[in-house]
Amino acid sequence: MIDAPSYPDPLGMSRPLTAQPVTPTYWQATAGTAPDDDGRLESDLDCDVAIIGGGYTGLSCAYHLTKLRVASVAVIEANQPGWGCSGRNGSFARPAIGRVPHADWERKWGAEIADAMFAEALAALETARKVIQEADIDCDVMPEGWLKIAHRAGRVAALQREGDLLRNRYGMAVEFLDAKRLAAEHVACGDGYGALRWPLSFAMHPLKLVYGLVRAARGQGAVIFRDTPALGLDKDGDRHVISTPRGLVRARHLVISTNGYTVEGLFPKLRHRLLPVMSNIVVTRPMTLEEKQAGNFVTSDCMSDARTLLHYYRRLPDDRIMLGGKGPVRATPRQMAAHRQELLRVIERKFPFMKAPSVEYFWGGWVALTPDSLPHITTAEDDQSLHYALGYIGSGVSCSLHAGRRIAEKITGQQVSLPTPLTAALPKYPMAAFRRLGQRAAMKWYALKDERL
Ligand SMILES: Cc1cc2nc3c(=O)[nH]c(=O)nc-3n(C[C@H](O)[C@H](O)[C@H](O)COP(=O)(O)OP(=O)(O)OC[C@H]3O[C@@H](n4cnc5c(N)ncnc54)[C@H](O)[C@@H]3O)c2cc1C
Repeated sequence: MIDAPSYPDPLGMSRPLTAQPVTPTYWQATAGTAPDDDGRLESDLDCDVAIIGGGYTGLSCAYHLTKLRVASVAVIEANQPGWGCSGRNGSFARPAIGRVPHADWERKWGAEIADAMFAEALAALETARKVIQEADIDCDVMPEGWLKIAHRAGRVAALQREGDLLRNRYGMAVEFLDAKRLAAEHVACGDGYGALRWPLSFAMHPLKLVYGLVRAARGQGAVIFRDTPALGLDKDGDRHVISTPRGLVRARHLVISTNGYTVEGLFPKLRHRLLPVMSNIVVTRPMTLEEKQAGNFVTSDCMSDARTLLHYYRRLPDDRIMLGGKGPVRATPRQMAAHRQELLRVIERKFPFMKAPSVEYFWGGWVALTPDSLPHITTAEDDQSLHYALGYIGSGVSCSLHAGRRIAEKITGQQVSLPTPLTAALPKYPMAAFRRLGQRAAMKWYALKDERL
């Protein structure tokens, strides 16, 4: 059995982790050689735009800025590019913006904003497709499709209602598949009582996507520093001054794209506004041909169940099963080992045709929740040169790529009309000191709802 990793809580840190080794994941084992970057920042640097955080948000921002001919763009990453969620996620690019249920959108924001939010979610997926195509990134993109699967008979009616809303209100060509069709056309999973199939969404190789973005952004002139944590922010006239261990970075614009790895003490505007939450992934041994045939596991779709604390899963190109889900509140080795076992039990339940599945890869990462369950892609009210994009609520592959693009467009003076819920200032958590307590209580309640109610 592989060791269970542990991950220190960003909420308890006064400085970010830095110069960390590569996280051992299935993606890391299959991505090939990492591209060159610009090493550590060793001296002072002046640039037009400094970007703190080298995940999809920061790299996409650097890619789009340099594409829009901004001359000097520097990404400052505390570890390696993609070290955070971007190099280790579940690989699903979906038209997702936060986690407010579609059924609540119109009541919450009115018809016009609900339409704009839906359009922005589709635009986010289109940005993901376009970046991959334009920059010619070979990241094992799979055919499009996402199955949201009813894991209990009692969830079928709600899924059908969701399908009606998406079709009738938003014009999305989703299709409801009953359990028989799901098993015949996609996979015979142990708890598949029916599924809503979106024609949009694709799986890919997340770390290869990081590598492609690094190559493309550097190819257009961006510099990308690794092992270079931002340790303090200041302002000198119209220049942001970012302290790093070996040099000061001075920049006209500053973009903060640290998401679940944000050390809130470093960024006063983000204090008490994010909740980093652990998400875990297991990857099994490859299925045998007999197992694959027994389960009719023919689909290459992204899949998730209909839980609030959802499981997400797919068949990988080498016929392993990847499955992810919520991690522990505290990612200690003991808690992580317990969660690995929990995910293995989920695999046994969902894929009973796999005999004695073993876990060959296991890892986790911090996703960022926000008080309003929405990402915020915005500029500080009192400083039009300070931008941040974060809080993707665990569904940030396409949204973070898109956010990086939108911030780049804003900086270069283009007309950017994002829906107002996304550009609003990030709200504070009430009683922020008790965020972890609140998380524990919420997870218990959601688990009860998911399994019983
Ligand atoms: C296990 C897991 C599965 C997921 N699955 C999916 C999925 O299938 N689909 C989906 O849409 N989303 C998924 N997500 C979420 C998605 O990966 C993220 O929303 C997205 O990658 C966020 O990108 P980012 O660039 O904003 O942040 P990250 O990729 O997390 O990058 C932030 C970076 O900031 C750096 N940093 C932090 N502080 C500093 C500092 N002071 N100075 C310099 N650098 C700093 C960190 O080292 C880190 O590399 C998953 C996440 C996890 C953890």
